[in-house]
Amino acid sequence: MAAKRFDVVLVGSGAVGLAGALAFAKAGFATCLVGPVPERRDGRTAALLETSLAFLRQIGVGPALEAASQPLRTLRLVDDTPSLFRPPPVEFVAGEIGLEAFGRNIENASLVELLAGAVRADGRITWIPSLADGLSGDAFETVRLKDGSTVSGVLVVAADGRRSRLREEAGLEARETRYPQVALTTILRHGRDHLDASTEFHTESGPFTLVPLPGRRSSLVWVNRPPVAERLMALADPDLARAIEARSHRILGRIEIDGPRGIVPLSTLRVGQLQRGRLALAGEAAHAVPPIGAQGLNLGFADMAMLVQLAAAAREQGGDIGGETVLARYQQARLRDVQVRTTAIDGLNRALLSGLLPLDLARGFGLGLIARIGPFRRAVMRAGLGAARLNAGGSRAGSRSGSAE
Ligand SMILES: Cc1cc2nc3c(=O)[nH]c(=O)nc-3n(C[C@H](O)[C@H](O)[C@H](O)COP(=O)(O)OP(=O)(O)OC[C@H]3O[C@@H](n4cnc5c(N)ncnc54)[C@H](O)[C@@H]3O)c2cc1C
Repeated sequence: MAAKRFDVVLVGSGAVGLAGALAFAKAGFATCLVGPVPERRDGRTAALLETSLAFLRQIGVGPALEAASQPLRTLRLVDDTPSLFRPPPVEFVAGEIGLEAFGRNIENASLVELLAGAVRADGRITWIPSLADGLSGDAFETVRLKDGSTVSGVLVVAADGRRSRLREEAGLEARETRYPQVALTTILRHGRDHLDASTEFHTESGPFTLVPLPGRRSSLVWVNRPPVAERLMALADPDLARAIEARSHRILGRIEIDGPRGIVPLSTLRVGQLQRGRLALAGEAAHAVPPIGAQGLNLGFADMAMLVQLAAAAREQGGDIGGETVLARYQQARLRDVQVRTTAIDGLNRALLSGLLPLDLARGFGLGLIARIGPFRRAVMRAGLGAARLNAGGSRAGSRSGSAE
């Protein structure tokens, strides 16, 4: 049977694939999404920077997103290591660089749910709720499904996560660096207001981060060595809550566990190439970083925004939306940004883990400078905000953004 043909076939029904389907459909492309209906709830949240929010507003989910998320107005970094060179806490305040907020924090499962609802309601998108089995065709333009049927795209986008089947099928190599750490994630209810502030305690086992959610609720990402995380996971809710109170120096008062728990092994995933034939990689199929500095999903939305923009520009000029020119430009535009951010996050994580004196000194000195020197602090804020620069419609975004993971 001949493959059904679309302009764009996206594989993967996580936040990146769903948002991409909405963006391509809105830009007028015949769009097919392949991926199972998402079900995972693991207490993970995503701090989305302003450029990601602009992208999501543009694809029509702005009001639902606003209702389910909380603004991030202050980002606090606290060195909670036994370092000899422990700097004072550093606070980044959005108002210092003329922003109302750096971004908004939302439970990942809620974001996926609202995007899935929008895809279902969009009559222009064909959603096949099944797993892709592989790729065929000289330029990887055909996606094989588990039931033996096929769909083809002028452009095929792999947004099927860090274990991407499509990336492997196309022979695009990925290098994964595993850390001796896992992240415990959950949702907390607390006695004190968070005042729209996210606090990241840097400890020698990794970051311990509280990020505000609507109401007196926050998400927790607690990075630890695996045996410690396993012991914490085995605790009953009230005992885990007491451990979190102690680790957070009770800045949020009394704590209760108010959501599912998850445990995620930490690694960095790097690829040397983002495209081959008609296939482009996006989201965690293309890059993964530890949860420090709110970069992961923001990078994924920036990938999608860029792809839609380049495809729309090619169509306007009568070009091939999945051809060599478009995909080479995509790679050129995204790979460098992804590499720079991956290296920075990897470096910070290793500096925390190493306990080596020179690294400790450098980190303490860097944070001390940021804490004391206003222009330097503002420059760091602007650099952190630059995860996503382009929006879905092909024009430059209002280009203000934020950070926190
Ligand atoms: C603890 C933690 C905290 C984080 N916090 C932040 C944050 O604050 N800000 C931020 O920007 N990022 C954050 N991230 C990163 C963010 O969660 C990820 O970047 C994001 O969820 C990745 O989305 P994705 O759609 O690329 O991949 P996934 O969410 O992995 O989605 C992939 C999808 O593809 C589907 N799939 C897999 N195989 C196939 C197949 N063969 N066929 C069809 N479909 C398939 C899967 O079912 C899944 O639905 C955090 C990560 C962690 C671990």
